Amino acid sequence: MIGKDVARSPYYITTAIPYVNARPHIGHALEFVLTDAVARWRRLRGDEVRFQTGSDENSLKNVQAAEREGIPTQALVDRNAGLYYALRDSLNLSFDDFIRTSVEPRHVDGVKKLWLACERSGDVTKRAYRGLYCVGCEQFYAEDELVDGLCPDHLIRLEIVEEENYFFRLSRYADRLIDAIDSNRLRIVPQTRKNEVLSFIRRGLVDFSISRSKARAHGWGIPVPGDPDQVMYVWFDALGNYITALDYANESELFQRYWSGNPNRVHVIGKGIVRFHAVYWPAMLLSAGVPLPTTIFVHGYVTAEGVKISKSLGNVVDPVDLAQRYGTDALRYYLLREIRSTDDGDFALERFIRAYNADLADQLGNLLNRVVSMVGRYYGGVVPAPQGVPSAPLAPRAGVEGTQGTHLMDAALGLHRRVDEAMNRFAPHDALAAIWDAIGAANKYVDDTEPWALAKRRRTDPLANARLSTVLYNLVETLRLVAHYSSPYIPAAAESILRQLGLPSGAREGWSDWGRYPAGTAVQPGSVLFPKFVVQ
Ligand SMILES: [Zn+2]
Repeated sequence: MIGKDVARSPYYITTAIPYVNARPHIGHALEFVLTDAVARWRRLRGDEVRFQTGSDENSLKNVQAAEREGIPTQALVDRNAGLYYALRDSLNLSFDDFIRTSVEPRHVDGVKKLWLACERSGDVTKRAYRGLYCVGCEQFYAEDELVDGLCPDHLIRLEIVEEENYFFRLSRYADRLIDAIDSNRLRIVPQTRKNEVLSFIRRGLVDFSISRSKARAHGWGIPVPGDPDQVMYVWFDALGNYITALDYANESELFQRYWSGNPNRVHVIGKGIVRFHAVYWPAMLLSAGVPLPTTIFVHGYVTAEGVKISKSLGNVVDPVDLAQRYGTDALRYYLLREIRSTDDGDFALERFIRAYNADLADQLGNLLNRVVSMVGRYYGGVVPAPQGVPSAPLAPRAGVEGTQGTHLMDAALGLHRRVDEAMNRFAPHDALAAIWDAIGAANKYVDDTEPWALAKRRRTDPLANARLSTVLYNLVETLRLVAHYSSPYIPAAAESILRQLGLPSGAREGWSDWGRYPAGTAVQPGSVLFPKFVVQ
């Protein structure tokens, strides 16, 4: 719980920074919304959160995309980085920082410092190298990793590249990486990904190239310190963003607060880039003498209508378009509830509309509407105080709705434990299932206690009158808690619920206790929370 005297715990969470060679698709939306939900939950429970994202701009892919369009690379990345930044509005993201790797001195200075620190440890050496290189992946492959002689990911023929490059001595760090991961000092979630990483390391680590000739990089990228003919391999520079954004260049207070002195350094990434984050990146940090991330959460991929998302297939589902057409909260809800975060999931329009109508419109929207209009009808729009023993508003003496009220209160108060436990596992689908259990319990409570019948009898039956006020208070209080707990996932709807209950937005100290709703407050009936969609 939030307490004045308790120092708030720092919590740093990042998304991967996407290549900006094309518009964002639904897969990006999944990662951003998932990370945003964790960040918002952590703020709500009282942590001091810093949520960071950005754009990976020094990739050869961006050079190629700009060449196809006939515009300068900088113009392409400027334009496309803007499209990713704009997701802040379309997806209602709460990130605190957005780092751009091609233009920001804090990044360039920071990765140069990181490079030099690895060099001082003796882990950076120049060697002649000849290998098979995939431009799509921007990485070298060994013969035995190929599929029919082609890139396993892109199924294209690889280029034979021969040049002098700098190499990072990854092989030196196998034991220390295994130790960090095995002991959960570097926690990899879920367990299946942890096992994959450990077995990859145990098969033996090979040093990897961390620079390219300036010519092959088309002059695009961050120059290697002291060797202007070479630019840094884009992954070396991109991974650095997690600390350069915190001013690693100067190791200022920001860096100490959120990295070196922070027990929560969390990366959220997709399953395709685990090796870079769980092997290369921690090895670079070990070499540079910088603490490792503490947690890496790996999510699955999204397909669209059952088909893998790819630009060539032309099935890139546009999250901006979906959010405009159906609402940001509706899209966020689907991504967080209908897709299990550790598994692959699918975006299907029919299923999206079905979930929207059933969960958001029929259950949550309807509950709010019922409760606010009953407060209007029976109490002139002012929420009554519960009657009964004041310190125990749900005491059995309140009669039949006492037991039912206890069930409802248990469902609402049980949310804290269930949501926190789920979010510690990065499982918003389970957190939302818990919240919808409470919403279901509240709807059932209305049906079981029949406030309309109590209202009919209340002039002649004082007990019915007392019960009615208690029932409505309990429902309003449950909605208040539901609004707070659902705010990390559907923030705009949560605010609208609070507004309709006559409450200010945001959570105050003690928000998670029962009985915090101030009786005597006037409700503010508003528009329908989630108007139903008709399935064509
Ligand atoms: Zn490839």
